[in-house]
Amino acid sequence: VIAVVGSINADLFVRVDRHPRPGETVLGTGGSVAQGGKGANQAVAAARLGARVRLVGAVGTDAHADQALALLKDADVDLTAVSTVDEPTGLAIVQVDRAGENSIVVVPGANGTVDAAMVGAAAEVIQDAAIVVIQGEIPVDGIERAAQLCTGRLIFNTAPVPDEIDLDVVRAADPLVVNEHEGLLLLGKLAPPPTGPGERGYRDLEAADVVQRLRDTGVRSVVMTLGSAGALVTERGAIVPVLAPTVDAVDTTGAGDAFVGALAMGLARGDALIDAARVAARVGAFTCRSAGAQPSYPWARDALPDV
Ligand code: ADP
Repeated sequence: VIAVVGSINADLFVRVDRHPRPGETVLGTGGSVAQGGKGANQAVAAARLGARVRLVGAVGTDAHADQALALLKDADVDLTAVSTVDEPTGLAIVQVDRAGENSIVVVPGANGTVDAAMVGAAAEVIQDAAIVVIQGEIPVDGIERAAQLCTGRLIFNTAPVPDEIDLDVVRAADPLVVNEHEGLLLLGKLAPPPTGPGERGYRDLEAADVVQRLRDTGVRSVVMTLGSAGALVTERGAIVPVLAPTVDAVDTTGAGDAFVGALAMGLARGDALIDAARVAARVGAFTCRSAGAQPSYPWARDALPDV
């Protein structure tokens, strides 16, 4: 069983010709609500591929809760450890202008209540799981408690990177899943760059160097996703590139979460990390061919694009 401990959101999309300035009202179109939140996305991705998944999180009592949970239920994710709290369901308000530029407001709402106490109340779910998956969208003490309770294998997708995270949790991740930006940020925390004269920090490092250095700081294993370029994976002493299939990408929203969910599924069924990452890269590419996050995720019966 995979336990995902993380965020659940309703995503509200509106299209505008241009973004309003402060004090201004503009007319828009759309207004549809989609299912989001990294925890929920990753849970749906793993479950659709056939894994048994339990989700630890929280929603509010508002109408967005049902919408946010709809595709989790549809994929048979066990929601008994999802609490209903006296806060609004997590909400992302996404404005997209004519040029495709986003501006996004995120209201953590109920996700902000998934702290050490709430995660501790779901201890059994986490302790019983072979794979525990965490991300950065709940309070940091909730993330740390989930890692402490994990008796199986911990997948930590540091998106976003929490400000004050216990670095032992990062080192315990097997794998740590980052994008380039997150990898650089974490490397700066795990191994602060020398600041002597002439030093430029880590900004000019190649992606593979960042992965190698993260590994050298004691992180058990690292996966770095690179968008259409695929991913880099630590494999014994080496760093192995994993290619993503070429697809006509129309919307990459949630591709990274699909990758993490697929990776969890692969590890849960006993695949080696590199093999799980190869499948995850194909799953990530699959999701780019249609709109949205969860609705675009493949089921086990779907044919994945080949590299
Ligand atoms: P995030 O959404 O977290 O930024 P990425 O953009 O790196 O994550 O995407 C995760 C995975 O999804 C990639 O490793 C790749 O397999 C796949 N992917 C993302 N964008 C594309 C694309 N344009 N074409 C093909 N595959 C993609």
